[in-house]
Amino acid sequence: VSRIGVLTSGGDSPGMNAAIRAVVRTGLYYGLEVYGIMRGYQGLMENDIKKMESRSVANIIQRGGTILKTARCKAFHTEEGRKQAYDVLKSHGIDGLVIIGGDGSFQGAVKFSREFDIPCIGLAGTIDKDIYGTDFTIGFDTAVNTAVEAIDKIRDTADAHDRLFIVEVMGRDAGYIALHSGIATGAENILVPEQKTNIQDVIASLQEKERRKKLVNIIVVAEGDEFGGANKVAEAIKQHVPGVEARVCILGHIQRGGAPSCLDRLIASRMGYHAVESLIEGRHNVFVGIQNNRMNYVPLENVGKRKGTISSEWMKIVKILAS
Ligand code: ADP
Repeated sequence: VSRIGVLTSGGDSPGMNAAIRAVVRTGLYYGLEVYGIMRGYQGLMENDIKKMESRSVANIIQRGGTILKTARCKAFHTEEGRKQAYDVLKSHGIDGLVIIGGDGSFQGAVKFSREFDIPCIGLAGTIDKDIYGTDFTIGFDTAVNTAVEAIDKIRDTADAHDRLFIVEVMGRDAGYIALHSGIATGAENILVPEQKTNIQDVIASLQEKERRKKLVNIIVVAEGDEFGGANKVAEAIKQHVPGVEARVCILGHIQRGGAPSCLDRLIASRMGYHAVESLIEGRHNVFVGIQNNRMNYVPLENVGKRKGTISSEWMKIVKILAS
């Protein structure tokens, strides 16, 4: 490779900027030309591309969001759209692409790389940690820490008023943000999509705690939980445990923003460096994960196949520690 492009696509996540910086500076170090592609696949199709220098990525490692902007792009789902993207890359002589995004962006890359001869390397930028083959995704740690900070604050009010709070966190169809933030804040219960939600158990546990006069409780619900989110859970509880005053708090997009944590900056830097090394070594159509503290190169095709799981042991720990 001699000219590489880098883009961010799909949902943004804190640490994407650190990854862009690493890709740009590693590329320049190895004598490559590096092009920043604006607004993901959308900007690629529209030829919204600029050459990056070392200074282009100065003073961004600590910032959330993405300086390259991100977008969702309908046209990239079509063959014509992807052909247009290819023509734009060719016109710049770009012969390698780094895609920072979630599993949707990777699926787009899989189709693209089947059709055209441009090697693609993925970096998992998502707060959801819903990508198979890596212990870390860029943004997860920051999002969890944001959720923890928020839930700690909610707990103050819960405690002052003897109230039950049902807090909904993000994660799409993955429950990791809920699990991690729930354990770290001592939640009474954690509802995740990976485990069957038995609302009767939730209610029975609250009734039992009510009898013991343990009134301050936090339940953390993943947005993708099959029971249907925090509002649904609150309704069910109000119906069956009338003595409990329940409030709902949906944390929402604060979880996607903010300065990336040290860990997210670290893994973004490491993954970004290895993305460029991968292209130089001739790897293609893999994403750069980290497993057991080693780089793990996973074919992009496998991304959607297997999702992570949450062990029932974790749920047991939650129960024991919340008693
Ligand atoms: P994320 O990457 O965060 O999961 P999306 O699922 O929105 O976000 O995907 C980002 C973009 O990737 C989409 O807007 C689309 O342009 C492209 N994309 C996603 N899935 C596919 C697919 N199956 N085929 C082609 N392109 C896709």
